Amino acid sequence: MVTLNSDFQKITKQYLFPLIDEKKAELLGREPDAQLINMGIGDISLPLAPSVVQGLENAAREMGERPFGYGPAEGYAFLRERIVEVEYGAYGIGAEEVFVSEGINSDLCAIEELFDRDQHVAVLDPTYPVYGDISVMAGRHNITKIPCIEEHGFLPQVPKGEKFDLIYLCSPNNPTGVAMTYDNLREWVEFARVNQSVIFFDAAYAGFITSKDVPKSIYEIEGAEEVAIEFRSFSKSAGFTGLRLGYCVVPKKISKSLYDIWVLRQNTKTNGTSYPVQRAGLSALSEQGQKECAEQVRSYQRQGEVIKKSLEELGFTCLGGKDSPYIWWKIPSGNSWDFFDKLLNELKIVAIPGVGFGECGEGFIRLSSFVTEATVEKFKEVICKLK
Ligand code: PLP
Repeated sequence: MVTLNSDFQKITKQYLFPLIDEKKAELLGREPDAQLINMGIGDISLPLAPSVVQGLENAAREMGERPFGYGPAEGYAFLRERIVEVEYGAYGIGAEEVFVSEGINSDLCAIEELFDRDQHVAVLDPTYPVYGDISVMAGRHNITKIPCIEEHGFLPQVPKGEKFDLIYLCSPNNPTGVAMTYDNLREWVEFARVNQSVIFFDAAYAGFITSKDVPKSIYEIEGAEEVAIEFRSFSKSAGFTGLRLGYCVVPKKISKSLYDIWVLRQNTKTNGTSYPVQRAGLSALSEQGQKECAEQVRSYQRQGEVIKKSLEELGFTCLGGKDSPYIWWKIPSGNSWDFFDKLLNELKIVAIPGVGFGECGEGFIRLSSFVTEATVEKFKEVICKLK
């Protein structure tokens, strides 16, 4: 008889986004002409940059001219080498330590497999819900939440008297938009070194960082290459959510056996990422491609600045926005689901209730700057009617 993996059935909470979709559908059922102002979206709203399109076209043409079979499971050398040149040259990371994939989510699930089920896992609260969910789906039972609270500017504080084996850090954090400073991250690297933990550092939004006191890579911190695996994506910084491309850095210095089983895992369980998408990634990292993608990020940042300013002018407190596409809005009263309902039903604004990312997100709302100028204009028009 077939039996299903019972670990998957342990995810009992209703997933955030379907619940929001249900509420939107209910509203549109009552008011079919309602024009929703979607500020909840965590997906890009601009088309691919011209260099990226060119890279895809060239690769498609090449593939029509000669046979192209399987590529290397770890990714083509041309892309791994360029990633090192652009992102990691200064930190002693080698191209053989960079592994190309279809994106961070797949990489997180893959890396997760390398570690024993009984490992003690730490995840931030609030944070990207995937870390906790994939841990539960993998049968992990020892999961501790690290609160990120207003009192500490939503930065995760290193716990005293506790040890973890695997630590998920996300910087800039989704949903708070708050990025870890050099000092904060140094403490975590030190903690991991003392306790012999491994840090999974999700830097999906590294391309948005502008603050001088915020590292883009964990390897900017001395000794991090002995304890940290970094995850990066082309999704948000180059608009690849629909193309799918990312990579992780698995330094040999963490341990030779960890590196070796990762290579074994990748060679056994994947057949690599498609050639045209890797070529498009290379184009995004060309001089011209970097300029075009940076301009797109800048444009999202401009929307974020306007959203934040319009809320602050109304007397609200907001965090994030600066180094990330998310604005973390402190609600004046009540809980974040009630406030979500109020925004949706009274102003037709779709936002994300902070509590959907963890209990410590209660009292806040996440707004996204992945929106068009027209959406921001509508938001500005209606937000002043908030009572
Ligand atoms: N990590 C974080 C923090 C995210 O917010 C997201 C997407 O929203 C991802 C990873 C997913 O990245 P990818 O598209 O590379 O799978």
